[in-house]
Amino acid sequence: MYFYDELSADADKYFKLGANVISIGKSGEGRDIICFEVKGRDGAIISTAGIHARECVSAYVVKRQLEYALAHRPSHTQYFIPLVNPDGAEIVKEGLRTGDRSKQLWKANAAGVDLNVNFDANWGTGSQNVFSSGGENYVGTKPFSERESRALAEFTKQCGAKLTLSYHTAGREFYWYFFQTEHYRRDSEIAAFIERSLKYRYKRIDGDCSSAGGYKDWCVQKLNIPSFTIELGNGRHPLDRGDIAEDIELNEKLPSRLEKYV
Ligand SMILES: [Zn+2]
Repeated sequence: MYFYDELSADADKYFKLGANVISIGKSGEGRDIICFEVKGRDGAIISTAGIHARECVSAYVVKRQLEYALAHRPSHTQYFIPLVNPDGAEIVKEGLRTGDRSKQLWKANAAGVDLNVNFDANWGTGSQNVFSSGGENYVGTKPFSERESRALAEFTKQCGAKLTLSYHTAGREFYWYFFQTEHYRRDSEIAAFIERSLKYRYKRIDGDCSSAGGYKDWCVQKLNIPSFTIELGNGRHPLDRGDIAEDIELNEKLPSRLEKYV
């Protein structure tokens, strides 16, 4: 698992290794949402993890991608945000300490809003949306009611992102479709490339329309950029680093391999 104290230590570590360290905003409880920048030409790729609290182990993929970018210097700027929801991750940490299973399975932020249904993209219409605060699926009082989702959206616009990757667990499958019309062909081609890059174990899911209000959904609908939600590993939540060891290797070079599409 990966929590805020480790992220804080990583901020120092990767700064010394040459990454620019940016806070894209504060969480509801005032923690920094830290982003690492490896500078290249315009047309950025953003890789994020941990928007769902119990899936914070996905940060290890983003860290590995950051290390790869630092060692190989990308041609386009790459941004890495390992822990979009640091407050939620603290709830999971507490659950692991006390054995409280509902906290171990927490997906939302500290206010009980599921950040990945809080974006302004067909908000509130998802098949699993709920309308009261809790550990998962609560959409919030309105789109972007939460500081974390606002910060991520603002940063994505402001940095001129051309492609985004969002890491979750579990299932070894990925999603890219959100009612694209004009860009359907472009995005399906990139999806096919990702499928080949991640090998046969990944199940590609087309035409999934049950989703709404997600970061990927918002990137596709409002920014018209290709955006992918990738589910790492298999097993019982919350997954441990060992459960995604192979996935870390498979995804290491993905942002760099995708540069040809930005
Ligand atoms: Zn998730």
